[in-house]
Amino acid sequence: MPTPYLPPARPLALAQLRRWPLRNNHTGTHILNFCLREVLGDHIDQKGSLVAPTKLRFDFSHKAPISVKDLATIEDQCNDWIKRNVKVFSKEMDLATAQKIPGLRAVFGEAYPDPVRVVTLAYSLDEITADLDNPKWRSTSVEFCGGTHVAKTGDIKDFVVVEESGIAKGIRRIIAITGEDARRASQLANESDARFERVSKLAAGADKEHELKQLELDLAAQAISVVRKDKLRTQVTSARKAIADAARAQDKEQAKAVADAVTDFFKANADAQVFVARFDDAKGNAKVRTPFPSLSLSFVCVRRARADAPSSLSPARRSSRAASTRPRRSTRRRTSSRSRPTARSRTSTRSPRPTLSPAPSRQRRGSPT
Ligand SMILES: [Zn+2]
Repeated sequence: MPTPYLPPARPLALAQLRRWPLRNNHTGTHILNFCLREVLGDHIDQKGSLVAPTKLRFDFSHKAPISVKDLATIEDQCNDWIKRNVKVFSKEMDLATAQKIPGLRAVFGEAYPDPVRVVTLAYSLDEITADLDNPKWRSTSVEFCGGTHVAKTGDIKDFVVVEESGIAKGIRRIIAITGEDARRASQLANESDARFERVSKLAAGADKEHELKQLELDLAAQAISVVRKDKLRTQVTSARKAIADAARAQDKEQAKAVADAVTDFFKANADAQVFVARFDDAKGNAKVRTPFPSLSLSFVCVRRARADAPSSLSPARRSSRAASTRPRRSTRRRTSSRSRPTARSRTSTRSPRPTLSPAPSRQRRGSPT
């Protein structure tokens, strides 16, 4: 007999190293094929398959995108097969007999050799052929396959679906990883979960919003379980919404506090023309913006409105105001009940000087009283 060709030692070692992820991904593909049918229905047919050392890619007939709920069930069932650590069997048998096995997975239109190699999980081919009509064989994966597989499903360690997409009308694609790659992806997802836990404990504010936004960006780029990514993304989105809602409520509250303070001041001080106050909690308020955010305070400077200036106050609040306001300066127009000062129209955000500045000249153009 001629001496069989042996490749050089180094490539052989590399090839052997590669074989384990390949085996994981190949048996993982059989498990996925089986679970897809279990969860989505018997219409699932293989349309393409790639088994690489780094991933497995499986294309199949299915009309709609798979919901996250179904993907979670599929991923869980695949991992159940791994936890059960069942044996993987393979045997060559005659094509006609093999085609009678209930639940057999074969690629439609593919020409198979005779005899054909059959790969099964949990039940041996001897067991199956001894009772060929038993519908129980539908409960396991039976495929025509010439590839290399793990000895027991537990060798796969972990199974993670990292992508679900449509590649053509009626054809979906699932990309999954197994073994150490899947372990690392699960670890990464655990770290992201822990990071969210930590960030969610921060006090609501700009720092928390920044951290959440960064987490959202990092999450988008992570090759982790689509199921876990979706769950975490939902949590981050609702945490960001809660911060935005709280900020809006606080804005509203602070704007009202400023408006009330201004109204009360001018009501109590009929002769006053200008209201200046410091609001220490105005930090972050879009309406009462402070030029010194780190000081967490804001000065509000409001001048009494002119008589002909439009008022943004509601009629009810306007009528509740006493009409007898006398301008301090003789050059100014008399103010009327229509010219209520309001925080919205007169709050100065650009010039927070605590000193009173003289009113612009156009304000003094009115006929003297
Ligand atoms: Zn196969």
